[in-house]
Amino acid sequence: MEYISEHKGNELKSLIESAERIIILSHKNPDGDAIGSSLGLCHFLEMKGKHVKVIVPNEYPEFLHWLPGNDFVIKYKKEPQLAGKLIEEAELIFSLDFNDLKRLGKLGEIVEKNQTASRILIDHHPYPKPFCDVEISTVHVSSTAELVYHLIQRIDDKALKNKDLCECLYVGVMTDTGCFSFNSSNPATFRAVAHLLQSGIDKDYIYDRIFNNYSAGRMKLMGYCLNHKMHIIPEYHTAYIGLSQKEMKEYDFKMGDSEGFVNLPLSIEGIIFSALFIEKAGHTKISFRSRGNFPVNDFSASHFGGGGHMNAAGGESKESLTESIKHFVSLLPDYSKWLK
Ligand code: 5GP
Ligand code: MN
Repeated sequence: MEYISEHKGNELKSLIESAERIIILSHKNPDGDAIGSSLGLCHFLEMKGKHVKVIVPNEYPEFLHWLPGNDFVIKYKKEPQLAGKLIEEAELIFSLDFNDLKRLGKLGEIVEKNQTASRILIDHHPYPKPFCDVEISTVHVSSTAELVYHLIQRIDDKALKNKDLCECLYVGVMTDTGCFSFNSSNPATFRAVAHLLQSGIDKDYIYDRIFNNYSAGRMKLMGYCLNHKMHIIPEYHTAYIGLSQKEMKEYDFKMGDSEGFVNLPLSIEGIIFSALFIEKAGHTKISFRSRGNFPVNDFSASHFGGGGHMNAAGGESKESLTESIKHFVSLLPDYSKWLK
């Protein structure tokens, strides 16, 4: 499958060539693909002599802080004035790994004010909103990082010798495929990964930095969740976990500590739908995962103002933790034809 045609490659090449100041944006609560794809593209554009800044709405977990270029990522929540000024001055704006300016929160409103910069979308979520001039958007790819790889390969494949660039893109592909356990059946993904490895990056080292870097508190919290907080509803093949702020505090919770918890119940035979509820100040953040063809992005969009992919989505509720969970459980009978 050709993700980026020669024509589109040329169009993007000339947009890049004619811009000096470039911004790369990614979504709220950035994950490995958001940061990996953004920093990978950032390295590429810097190699082309551009003035580039990556801006994200808020902080992200520490297990991503070792990535080359991390120290220069601007968090809007921390430095709103600087982020605003850079966006105002930008001539070209890349939007990576999200499909709607709303996914940027307040930062999205600032982006909307710059009506002169050209906008490019690189994303793999369904239903992209039309907020960009050029779109590279398909759900038939493992990750945004893989799309960035295909773009660079199209424009200047010699750049793929750069280890920093390849390390960032590899992190994006690896994390968004659950270490190649899903969304990675297309041989093109493995060809892309083989090409990234040729730069000399050490994939075992990268795995270690991401997955063997947790605190003891997180492991104990995981044990507590599985032992005491995981509720199974066998008739709907569903399981959920809810965590209060008090419980997280008891385990010295740090951002990223609940990463992956939502996947745990899916390894139980017969469970096809899993949800994780995290109590926040004034709202509840929810993650959904499914196995098979139950579209959790549609479920989340219909009931929790969210979205995402068919098997991995997120949303929010203004209700308390307890009320959000009650609401969730009350919806299950309506989905009985899917959840069997
Ligand atoms: P996670 O559960 O890991 O936070 O997110 C899973 C997927 O759902 C990711 O693709 C993420 O971008 C998307 N997602 C998470 N939260 C939201 C949300 O509040 N709104 C939308 N539209 N997508 C979300
Ligand atoms: Mn992604």
